[in-house]
Amino acid sequence: MLNIRRNVFILGVAFILSSCAMAPIKLSTIPEKEIFPFLTVPIFRQDVFHAVAPAETLWCISRMYDVKIEDIVQANNLKDSTELEMGQRLLIPKAAPIRPVIPLYKTRKWKYIIIHHSATDEGDSLFLFKLHLKRGFLGLGYDFVIDNGTLGKGDGQIEVSPRWIKQQDGAHCKAADMNFKGIGICLVGNFSKEKVSQKQMGSLVYLIKILRVYYNIPYRNIMGHGQVPGAKTECPGKRFPWKEFKDRLKGSK
Ligand SMILES: [Zn+2]
Repeated sequence: MLNIRRNVFILGVAFILSSCAMAPIKLSTIPEKEIFPFLTVPIFRQDVFHAVAPAETLWCISRMYDVKIEDIVQANNLKDSTELEMGQRLLIPKAAPIRPVIPLYKTRKWKYIIIHHSATDEGDSLFLFKLHLKRGFLGLGYDFVIDNGTLGKGDGQIEVSPRWIKQQDGAHCKAADMNFKGIGICLVGNFSKEKVSQKQMGSLVYLIKILRVYYNIPYRNIMGHGQVPGAKTECPGKRFPWKEFKDRLKGSK
């Protein structure tokens, strides 16, 4: 079934399409609001290829690149525009620089934000989705992934997980029942060995500022996985720059 409804926060009509073949998404939850940064001029447009991530729809991709759905359908000769597969490569004609599209859902479920690292040198949401499937989870355990510029993704690119779109419990932190009340954000990288890039840090702060305000989450409830009582892990890594993160989160920039 397609869920189609008018979203008052978006100009025009938002069509929310069903998604990929490997993990069909039944959207029972419609975002109340979307955070969608507008383009600043001048815009440099170019044709790019985009690998479809878990939970991504044409509607979402069209907004990420500021390109009409019809233009993507035509450029890729898509017969059924509602069926995308994870990993499918799409040509995005005359794409603007990629921007995150962050859906926000009206709920009182989320009281904490838990920061993780992937503890891998490379990755993206699809890579972690497959990794978590192998571990016996129902797909990607986090709600958001912030890429590090590997596997064709941009450094600092924010990816939204199917779990967030379906507003399901997480599979990222058993301790203190955080899977039921904590939003899981994973930065790709191993921050016991390497530094968080400036772009990743910028995106992390940007995303958490939005989530914190919208869900009224106090600063003390924003923590690393290893700081959750009962968790025995050094995630998100021994070198994670907590001071810089907290300064930037509380700063006005
Ligand atoms: Zn973790």
